[in-house]
Amino acid sequence: MAYDLTEISRGLLALALEEEVITSFAEKAANYIVEIEDFCHEPYCVLLQIHPQKRKVHPLACVGCTPEQVDAIRQMSNPDCPFFIAARSGETTVLNREACSADCACDCRNNLHIVPFRKGNNTIAEMIVSLSETGSPNEDQLQVLQVISGILSKSIARLLFVEQQERMALLVHENPNPILECDEAGEVTYANPAVKKILWQHSIDQDELLPTNHIEYVRSAARLQTPETVKHDVGESSYSWTYQHDAESERTVIYGIDISDQKRIETQLAHDAMHDALTGLPNRNQLFTILKSEFSVIKRRKDYSFALLLIDLDRFKTVIESLGFEAGNVVLSEIASRLRNWRGHDKVVARLGGDEFAIILEDLSNISRVVELANNIKRLIVEPFRVNENSISLTVSIGIAIGNSLAQTPEGILQNASAAVYRAKRQGTNNTEVFDKEMHLNALARLQVHNELADAMASGDLTVYYQPVLGLNDLRVRGFEALARWQHPKKGLLLPGQFIPIAEETGLINELGALVIKTVCRQLAAWKSAHFPLAWVSVNVSAHQFKLDHLVSDIMRYIVEAGADPSRLFVEITEGTAAEHPERAFEMMTKLKEHGIRIALDDFGTGYSSMSYLKRFPIDTLKLDRTFIMGLPENQDDAAIATTVINMAKSLGMKVVAEGVEDERQAMFLRLQKCDEVQGFLYGKPMPERNATLLLKAGARAKKESNPLERIHITK
Ligand code: C2E
Ligand code: MG
Ligand code: MG
Repeated sequence: MAYDLTEISRGLLALALEEEVITSFAEKAANYIVEIEDFCHEPYCVLLQIHPQKRKVHPLACVGCTPEQVDAIRQMSNPDCPFFIAARSGETTVLNREACSADCACDCRNNLHIVPFRKGNNTIAEMIVSLSETGSPNEDQLQVLQVISGILSKSIARLLFVEQQERMALLVHENPNPILECDEAGEVTYANPAVKKILWQHSIDQDELLPTNHIEYVRSAARLQTPETVKHDVGESSYSWTYQHDAESERTVIYGIDISDQKRIETQLAHDAMHDALTGLPNRNQLFTILKSEFSVIKRRKDYSFALLLIDLDRFKTVIESLGFEAGNVVLSEIASRLRNWRGHDKVVARLGGDEFAIILEDLSNISRVVELANNIKRLIVEPFRVNENSISLTVSIGIAIGNSLAQTPEGILQNASAAVYRAKRQGTNNTEVFDKEMHLNALARLQVHNELADAMASGDLTVYYQPVLGLNDLRVRGFEALARWQHPKKGLLLPGQFIPIAEETGLINELGALVIKTVCRQLAAWKSAHFPLAWVSVNVSAHQFKLDHLVSDIMRYIVEAGADPSRLFVEITEGTAAEHPERAFEMMTKLKEHGIRIALDDFGTGYSSMSYLKRFPIDTLKLDRTFIMGLPENQDDAAIATTVINMAKSLGMKVVAEGVEDERQAMFLRLQKCDEVQGFLYGKPMPERNATLLLKAGARAKKESNPLERIHITK
């Protein structure tokens, strides 16, 4: 049959002109198609929007389908279904059920024609019609199909585009974020309602909402063809504006995002980085920044000076130990607020951490006035604090340093104030010290010792001496105490008192301690392989080393590396250190004991440890401090203490070593009290490794009754 192609195109074009909504147009067009006389084999015409890559179809019109079939079409996702094959190839395809998997949702009969509609290289829609029972329509039908597909593909593409534009416009219009469009001159040609809302909220006009250099951003977005982003504040709010140029329309779209919350968080983070969390006071970082700005004032005004006060609470640890951390925090917060509210002088108060505060007193050079103000601060702190029914009185040590054109850097003035507070603390409690020239020289000298000591450790000038410890009944060597010595190239042999405190102050002590322990482990291994009598060596561990979490594992590593026997090693911890950190001491001692290392409590009698701790600690030996031996046997107090300590140690199953035995009368007294072991100049001074080895050799040969110490010449 011949079709009136002109009539068909006119009819479809009329529909396309009439209908602006894609689904109405598709519905009417599909109905129009099935009604073309003798064209469709059965009244079946489906129009689909299709997205082959995403495997998605969206029915636009489904004439001749049951609602179930429409649903099935909506569910389609099988990439091998002819719907998608045709969409991908862009070729008209005849549907073959066999080619499609049995469970495919297309649910269509055989021999349907699938006609893809393309826009550019993409299929955007499809028409599925039933033209003949066999799938082979005649020439005339194919001509009609061509006309239909020509008109439909264009109309559907246009309406889909319009719909998309409308959707976009709606998105822009209803977007809660401000969106504007402007021309090349920066003139705003569109603003969504969100923009108007902001203008109204802040009572501003459009110019104030957009960044000050708005026109510059419009131009550069157009020139660079890449989006430009800029931040701009409006009252309390902050916006981030992105300028994006559209070359086709020659317009620039400006998308805004309210970043006030983000900015608030950033500001909060910046504040937190600079402030102490507990008290809200500026922290060390912030103090540094303030000191820097104080020094920049000095650069401009040579006569300007300020005072830095470092305030360190005395015995704050006792508060924490007796009342707990919470109480400690209450006290620190209260101190912060007392200092903050103090009206003595223009100031900045900061907390440096722990129980350390700092105050900058601005524009002040008169030292006696500074000390007077420091005394006022002391009086402020000394007022009792009330913490859960308890009344606590605290004192502070204050170190003062003056910032003027001589002290140039924040680091420098902080170091000076630290040196002053250190000296104040050494003199007891409640003291104030001003950093002066002498302290400066001391600090310099200490720095020099530190540097030289670091070199000495690297070059092998730091060595270990061994002082024998003997059994008091047979005077045979039981072991040695390892004592650090520094063979200084100019000053000769230096004793620990000349460098250990500086090493402790500067943190070098950890390295020094490690070096001593390593040396001792190697020595133990050497004596072991030479089959000398089994002597032990004890090493001193300072409070700093004691704080290291990895101390025990380090010691074990040195032992294993050297091939030493852990049961030949003693670790000496002073009573003071153990009493100051009893929990840590307990943990550390237990770990050492687990590895077979023995523990000695050094300088016993000077550290005020409590009996309950002593009982709990897994201590092997108490070393009775030299100060109680010196007065023996005449001094009654010393005699009483020595006797008590020896008896107490015995009752706790510990051995006692008397330190610093210098004469026979002391030894006699100790022998009568049944002290186990002795160490002192009477028996042997600390000696280099070579002499200690000779001593052991001699011990191996000596007859039981003779004292080997008498037969070798020992040099210090
Ligand atoms: P300490 O652990 O109490 O060591 C005993 C000190 O008493 C040694 O002093 C020793 O020479 C001295 N001494 C022993 N017998 C007598 C005596 O009969 N008369 C007198 N007047 N003194 C005697 P040294 O070697 O000067 O060491 C002093 C302190 O330095 C040691 O006291 C120890 O606390 C510390 N020390 C030594 N070496 C090290 C080390 O490697 N690490 C650590 N952390 N501290 C060490
Ligand atoms: Mg010792
Ligand atoms: Mg000692």
